[in-house]
Amino acid sequence: MKSIVIHAAKDLRIETHEVEEPDAGQVQIKLAAGGICGSDLHYFNHGGFGAIRLKEPMILGHEVSGHITKLGAGVEGLHVGQLVAVSPSRPCNTCKYCQEGLHNQCLNMRFYGSAMPFPHIQGAFREVLVADASQCVVADGLSAAQAAMAEPLAVALHATKRAGDLLGKSVLVTGCGPIGALSILAARRAGADRVVAVDLSDFTLGVAKKVGADEIINTGRDPKALESFTKDKGTFDVLYECSGAQPALVAAIATLRPRGKIIQLGLGGDMSLPMMAITSKELSLMGSFRFHEEFATGVSLMRKGLIDVGPLMTHTVALDDAKQGFELASDRSQAMKVHIDFAG
Ligand SMILES: [Zn+2]
Ligand SMILES: [Zn+2]
Repeated sequence: MKSIVIHAAKDLRIETHEVEEPDAGQVQIKLAAGGICGSDLHYFNHGGFGAIRLKEPMILGHEVSGHITKLGAGVEGLHVGQLVAVSPSRPCNTCKYCQEGLHNQCLNMRFYGSAMPFPHIQGAFREVLVADASQCVVADGLSAAQAAMAEPLAVALHATKRAGDLLGKSVLVTGCGPIGALSILAARRAGADRVVAVDLSDFTLGVAKKVGADEIINTGRDPKALESFTKDKGTFDVLYECSGAQPALVAAIATLRPRGKIIQLGLGGDMSLPMMAITSKELSLMGSFRFHEEFATGVSLMRKGLIDVGPLMTHTVALDDAKQGFELASDRSQAMKVHIDFAG
């Protein structure tokens, strides 16, 4: 079977590996769709991000779906041929954070395609994947690419849970790549009244509009566009900061009303913040990292038609064209979510 392996920045190879058999409690899956994520792009373009660097070849990918081909002993509730979304979240279930229900903070997390630990955790971009049955969420009624959107959707749903009550609230989203666009969908589903989206790309802002933003603002073209929202100490109750860029966060903080909440999703390295404004407006600054139980919630919301991720899915490429897919996904002027078609 083929898999997509990153060796160093821009050194992406399609390699052949042995097909694995499922152990007890596992299933074997013929992959159908794999979404290229921002973290995959960091490995592809830069060989890592921040202090996290590739130290050995690693199979990329963690946004996948596929059809079950074999069931290991003792697996119930799944059957051969079924389409499943596969959660890349693989916590140990025994450490103190897992015991507390904070699975995304697991001390022994084996999240697909991550160079955070060494040896690296190999990813899921392979024609045949063996996964725990507990990672699989039945995706009947969805397309394979929709099912593969469950992972980034779960990230946005987790952030929305962190944000708390959104009913009737005003929300600003900075950075409208896939996570920003999905945050718009999640905030809207949670009852947000006004949603304003900010980015530097007209293409991504067009998608933001399609998924329900009331207003879209290109701060690249109009750097002063957010100033009107700073009147009377600010406008927005909640900020989803998805860009990881310091100028975006600093500008957004000026638009938050007293007691507003900053949900930081973007990972752009350390930055300095306007602490005077955070303190005097009594803002809350919270991080949001990955997800766990929100994965199944995301699949359920999509299957019920309560969240439509369609406008984000801009391109599909064949497995053998994976490298072009990564180049395309890196271009925010024309691509949002690029899927690799493993089914051929
Ligand atoms: Zn992802
Ligand atoms: Zn754990």
